[in-house]
Amino acid sequence: MSYILALISMAGFIIAGVCAVFVLTRNPKERLSRIFFVFSSAVAFYCLSDFLLKITAFVLMARVYSAFALFFWPLILGSLLHFTLVLGKNKKILGRWLGYALIYFPVPLIFYLHAVQGVFFAGFEMSPPANIEILGKYYWVLLVYSNMFFIATLLFAWRAWRRAQEKKEKSQNALVLTGFVLAYAIVTFFEQLLPAFHGHPIIIVPFALLVIVLFFAYAVVRYEMLVVSPATVAQDILRTMPELLIVVDTKRRVILVNQIAMDVFGYSHEEFISLSCHDLYVNKGECEKIHKETTKKGYIKNCQTTILDKNRRPVPVNANISIVKDRFGGEIGRILVFRDISGEQKTIAELEKTRKRMLSILEDTTEARDMAKEGKVEIEKLYEDLKVVDQMKTEFLSMVSHELRTPLTPIKGYSAMLLAGGLGKLSSRQEQVIGVIEREGDHLLELINSILDISRITRGRTLDLIKEPISVKALFEDLVLVMRPQTEEKNINIEIDLPKDIPTIVGDLYKIRRVLTNLLGNAIKFTPEGGSIKLSGEIEGKQIRMCVKDNGIGVDKDKTEKIFDKFYQVDSSYTRKVGGLGLGLAIAQDIVEAHGGKIWVESEGVGRGARFCFTLPVAEEKKA
Ligand code: ADP
Repeated sequence: MSYILALISMAGFIIAGVCAVFVLTRNPKERLSRIFFVFSSAVAFYCLSDFLLKITAFVLMARVYSAFALFFWPLILGSLLHFTLVLGKNKKILGRWLGYALIYFPVPLIFYLHAVQGVFFAGFEMSPPANIEILGKYYWVLLVYSNMFFIATLLFAWRAWRRAQEKKEKSQNALVLTGFVLAYAIVTFFEQLLPAFHGHPIIIVPFALLVIVLFFAYAVVRYEMLVVSPATVAQDILRTMPELLIVVDTKRRVILVNQIAMDVFGYSHEEFISLSCHDLYVNKGECEKIHKETTKKGYIKNCQTTILDKNRRPVPVNANISIVKDRFGGEIGRILVFRDISGEQKTIAELEKTRKRMLSILEDTTEARDMAKEGKVEIEKLYEDLKVVDQMKTEFLSMVSHELRTPLTPIKGYSAMLLAGGLGKLSSRQEQVIGVIEREGDHLLELINSILDISRITRGRTLDLIKEPISVKALFEDLVLVMRPQTEEKNINIEIDLPKDIPTIVGDLYKIRRVLTNLLGNAIKFTPEGGSIKLSGEIEGKQIRMCVKDNGIGVDKDKTEKIFDKFYQVDSSYTRKVGGLGLGLAIAQDIVEAHGGKIWVESEGVGRGARFCFTLPVAEEKKA
């Protein structure tokens, strides 16, 4: 038996050696041939070491040969794994390098055990049951380690086979996979299953390796697996070129198309093949024109046209078309090469727009400068004109608001009547819907009133104040109660902070309430859910300062004055979402100033909350 095994090892050395040289000389530049060369050479030397080990009669020599065999073992596993990864076009290089590091890690370990402990000599000279006894856990380390890499190689070979797209590639990878499966099955059977029944394993690794080498060599010869043929090069060019390539026959039917063309057009390969060349252009007439010109000249270069994708979307392209002729000069088809220029066109259009804008700004400023130089513009007159226009706009606003208020009165009245059950009992759904009408009616009325107020302010009419003593504490408490539905909806907490001896103030209760409702309403509006608001009052000499502080979206430092302007809203997605007219603060400012006070905002910046404060005079204490 050992005689036959020695012969197998010798045959392994010769066959693997021949295969290594044969494959490398066929195509030395190809990556796979080089990896195969390393693999096949390692197998050859492994077989040679094994052969010598089996026939030697000297213990010392046996040790040297077994050391050699062990040296080649990780090389065999590593090159096999590398081979399958390259075969499957695996791109994850990092994983691959980690794999190699793992494969070669046991090499120093094995040499260490060899040199210092001598355990592995013994192991190779004995049969596996004795190995297990002498080597203990080291035997299992070697077994698990080798199995692990064989399984990984098998999996990668299987994946390469599954991923192969062309028929030829599939057959090649199938052959390699079969070689691996057979080899693995042989080793598992003879070395791992057989001892379970008879207790005598047959060490057949050289034979299994030879099977792999032979299958692989057959794949090379049969399918020219590692030879870069003109056909495979052409296919690689087709696949990787950045342009869209379509070949049509003399009847203008598509007969060949590359991947990028399928991606841009959105057709599958089958759909493409049945298409006529006309279907690819937006304008059939233009297609005919281009092809007529191609017939005349034999080619057409850098022609800008528009193609139509599967979803009927136009794509601007740069087209190059040439006629394909056979050896006798007859036309057999046409090659259409398109370059997608939509990106370039967009950039050009944007540049053109910017250029035009710059030109017009330049013209405006030059004109204005020239006019100013010539004294054609009278600033005073311009100002007067603008004032008239502004006045007209204010009148218009006031008129429109009045008109809008008129139809709102019956809407609000009737909805209130319906809700009160004036026209019969309502179902809960009806009640809910009419409730919405009434609430939105109130909101609309509020907006209209704000516009009316503002147009009155702009017309220079002073506010009529009906002054009375006001208790700040009662006012604050009442406001918190009124605002409760809104604060509860957003889960916002309002805290009141007032000194005990807060004096009474003098002012128009209705209007001051309006200021505070505006400020509180904004604070709720611009504070996200779960936020907090503080309503505070402080005495400052003969004035009282009231503040509404929130921890909401805050105000940009440059905008702290602007936000009090009429119709001004900070331009942000948040403001757009919550809505509003940009009048609340302008009205509040007007009311506060009419009372002889001041209003302002303090904020650390966007996202850091805001504090709106205003001052009002304290009521003179009556002398007793
Ligand atoms: P609006 O009707 O839009 O609320 P206002 O005049 O009340 O108009 O407010 C003007 C702008 O000031 C708002 O659009 C908002 O951008 C900003 N603003 C007002 N109050 C706050 C606040 N508490 N936090 C952040 N921004 C605010």
